[in-house]
Amino acid sequence: MQGQSYDIIVIGSGSGGLSVGLFMNRAGFRVLMISKSNRDIGGDCLNDGCVPSKALIHVAELIHKAELASQFGLNVAGKIDFGKVMAYIKSRQELIRKHENADWLKKEGISVAIGNAYFVGKNEVEVEGKIYSGKKIVIATGSTPAKLNIPGSEKLRYLDNENIFELDALPGKLLVVGGGPIGVEMSQAISRLGSKVIMVHSGKMILDRDEHSVAEILLTKLRQEGIVVQLNSKIEEIVSPNKGILKHDDGTRETIEFDAVFAAVGRDLNFRTLCVEKAGIQVKNEKISIDKYLRTSNKDVFVCGDVAGDLKFSHAAEFHARILINNFFSPFKKKLDNRYMSWVTFSDPQLATFGFNEKELLAGKIRYHKMVQDFNMDDRAIVGSFDYGRLILYLSPKNIFGSQKILGGTMIAPGAGEMIQELMLANSARISINAIFNKIYPYPVASRINQQLVVTLKEESLTSTVKRLLKIAFKFFH
Ligand SMILES: Cc1cc2nc3c(=O)[nH]c(=O)nc-3n(C[C@H](O)[C@H](O)[C@H](O)COP(=O)(O)OP(=O)(O)OC[C@H]3O[C@@H](n4cnc5c(N)ncnc54)[C@H](O)[C@@H]3O)c2cc1C
Repeated sequence: MQGQSYDIIVIGSGSGGLSVGLFMNRAGFRVLMISKSNRDIGGDCLNDGCVPSKALIHVAELIHKAELASQFGLNVAGKIDFGKVMAYIKSRQELIRKHENADWLKKEGISVAIGNAYFVGKNEVEVEGKIYSGKKIVIATGSTPAKLNIPGSEKLRYLDNENIFELDALPGKLLVVGGGPIGVEMSQAISRLGSKVIMVHSGKMILDRDEHSVAEILLTKLRQEGIVVQLNSKIEEIVSPNKGILKHDDGTRETIEFDAVFAAVGRDLNFRTLCVEKAGIQVKNEKISIDKYLRTSNKDVFVCGDVAGDLKFSHAAEFHARILINNFFSPFKKKLDNRYMSWVTFSDPQLATFGFNEKELLAGKIRYHKMVQDFNMDDRAIVGSFDYGRLILYLSPKNIFGSQKILGGTMIAPGAGEMIQELMLANSARISINAIFNKIYPYPVASRINQQLVVTLKEESLTSTVKRLLKIAFKFFH
């Protein structure tokens, strides 16, 4: 059956799809948004990702802080009511769902088709027997958790981000496979609720994409909280629903026991059922082939979000949407450029990273100066017991006016994701670090650490010649 034609069709209504669809609708275009179901609107972020995980982390942090209060004589006893934790998570999702659902989108003026979409022509997609045509089509179908590929894994009580927020009881002992952001955040939150957690990671450090030395600080904190972290190790075989063989890189093996397994071992891109070949879209190396402008080999079809096979974050999906929107209207086409990308692992402490890391600077032969500022002398960190924190910044060499720019950096501290924001702005807006030096920070905000790093840098530049000049100036001008 022939449906209607649209200026733009967006397949998938998650972080990326909604960003494109909502803007195009507000700009006066005829928009069709497609979602597998009404519940799927909001995508992974609302339903199975950021929102439920951050709500869970919030609860876990409250519980952890209550336990910490015992050192001041307040003894909190008893078990958490897991049902209430899950109800809290659901209630937060429902609040957001009020403006992420089919009726709401329709009220905004967007057409909505519910069902699985697939291409039937260059500019045509079919949903539930109806064919819709679009001048432009955006594939924003996201990704799904990669499955554990271990002999015997069919025996497991198997959890991933698509079913863990549906649990009705906390597993006594949870094996988490994968030490990336999802594995780390979930391990800590579930452990704080009361599970015994073992995290197994094949790499030599958790959070491989982050700076080793800051990830190491987090690793120590996780272990101090009682999480068993096995690095350089892989689950080799599942022998029963509660037992697996863990193989370490040195060849040794041990049997580990658990009640359930949470897999956080990467993501599969969602495009296999889209019949992209019907639209002349090429696929290479398990990905839709795209150019730097997020365009597929069909000039009217674009990708947005996780399915692009690039960085998989909600804000990366929103960034893709901004590139597409710019390129729909401007002769000055924007390319995908992750130079100013950032991410936060919402563990406690948080680990926040932005811009270039050292590997990229070396690979790009970009000259830089590395500054490391520990929090151990920071008054706020001392009173708040996060004097283990660290800020690392990569700075450009001084220009002829003596000013330096921020090329990238990383911070570990509670609230690092917020504290680092001004550094990210200085990075992306190419503002000199002197702006941070000259800023007046109310004492004792934690973000004064940003200024302290610049102060340390200035102090380092006090060479004997500079000191001599200062002595002369002091003599004449005081
Ligand atoms: C546990 C977890 C925690 C996370 N935490 C964070 C975080 O704190 N911060 C952050 O930035 N990111 C986080 N992420 C990542 C973030 O959720 C994703 O990067 C983001 O949701 C990707 O957006 P998207 O638009 O590409 O895809 P999605 O939001 O997944 O949307 C894709 C939609 O397309 C639909 N779809 C797929 N195929 C079809 C089809 N054929 N027809 C119709 N519809 C289809 C899907 O059902 C889905 O609804 C987290 C992810 C997980 C799993």
